[in-house]
Amino acid sequence: MSIRINSASCVGCGKCAEVCPGNLIRISDRKAEIKREKDCWGCTSCLKECKTGAILFFLGADIGGRGSVLSVKEEGENRIWTVTAGDGTKKTITVNTKESNRY
Ligand code: SF4
Ligand code: SF4
Repeated sequence: MSIRINSASCVGCGKCAEVCPGNLIRISDRKAEIKREKDCWGCTSCLKECKTGAILFFLGADIGGRGSVLSVKEEGENRIWTVTAGDGTKKTITVNTKESNRY
């Protein structure tokens, strides 16, 4: 598993680099980049911190289908998870972050 960072959507906030447990992300010229792609074990921490949806997480063929990617975007109180399949079709799950941890 690995991630890809879309530099066009990255605002250089550095949140992803702060949370990566493997110290795999650096900020260069106000853009995030992954240092050692092969060392990423897919914990999704960076993905959850990125408010602009700049980080794409590659899903295995057994999870989302061949060529599918997962991204997350924050809109107000909502975190919107999107799986984009290899053929471009999308499925989204919207989670209200204020409600999600209530029990
Ligand atoms: S969290 Fe997202 S916007 Fe912020 S530096 Fe990382 S990739 Fe860029
Ligand atoms: S998925 Fe986890 S290990 Fe991989 S780059 Fe993001 S925070 Fe680091």
